[in-house]
Amino acid sequence: MKINKVGIIGAGQMGNGIAHVSALAGYQVILVDIAQSALDKALATIQKNMARQVKKDKISQADMDKAIGNISSNTSMAGLNEVDLLIEAATESFDLKVKIFADALTHVKAECLLATNTSSLSITKLAATTDRPERFIGLHFMNPVPMMKLVELISGIATSDDMFKLSKSFAESLGKIVATAEDFPGFIANRILMPMLNEAFYTLYEGVGGVEAIDTSMKLGMGHPMGPLQLADFIGLDTCLAIMQVLHNGFGDSKYRPCPLLVKYVEAGWLGVKSGKGFYDYSGENPVPTR
Ligand code: NAD
Repeated sequence: MKINKVGIIGAGQMGNGIAHVSALAGYQVILVDIAQSALDKALATIQKNMARQVKKDKISQADMDKAIGNISSNTSMAGLNEVDLLIEAATESFDLKVKIFADALTHVKAECLLATNTSSLSITKLAATTDRPERFIGLHFMNPVPMMKLVELISGIATSDDMFKLSKSFAESLGKIVATAEDFPGFIANRILMPMLNEAFYTLYEGVGGVEAIDTSMKLGMGHPMGPLQLADFIGLDTCLAIMQVLHNGFGDSKYRPCPLLVKYVEAGWLGVKSGKGFYDYSGENPVPTR
């Protein structure tokens, strides 16, 4: 089977990045979100990020124009009837993703392949709610998608070898390198990263250090390009909390207990960069630590 058209559901930070790299690689892309404002923001972000690539001579103006022409957007799933591959990249919630796939399956063709960009949820369990678990896979891109080379590929128990091979060659056609992970909570990347970020939240919560001291320690002391609190703001604190809850519930081990300060921030709607405030306040020219 050849993939020509790609449907992407969820036009947030990840959806816009997946649309960006897919359109540049020559695929026809249909981007779907419930919010028109999210689609508008996604298209503006793609324009801005591609213009930056043109400026840096990574792509030509003609490449950009062609890629932008490959993208269409819609608040309804009606246009998904021709897509060969559907990638779900909506908010990290099992119930929401189940509902999205159920709706999408009333629109897509019988041969359409299904993928989810979930950071942590069970691929097997999500696949089992669809009519085609053998053609369902976890295609976990990293943020920001145009910059990060890795795609984690996670088969569910029923995923076929053909689906794995097709998904791997799709990821490689986007210039990505695949790491294969087994279907356990958080897979590889977030099994390792998220507990470290959660420990940074506890370090702040317990007053061991302030936001700046924690981030500086990990940047200058460990050579990390971003401090853990800055990185968490960038990922989205709602996404961090959802992943910690999946790890906590999935393994039943108290070492994954989400930090209460993280819970409080999410309750306040302080979700990081995307809401304008998290461990830093982004309303001014430079981010200012909130603690
Ligand atoms: P986000 O909050 O930036 O975007 C989520 C989008 O989903 C929003 O635009 C929202 O309007 C949309 N949405 C919600 N319900 C919808 C529905 N019913 N139909 C269509 N669209 C709907 O989130 P994000 O950071 O882009 O994360 C999306 C997914 O990617 C999550 O599963 C997350 O775990 C995963 N992920 C995130 C990162 C990261 O660093 N943020 C990295 C890898 C994977």
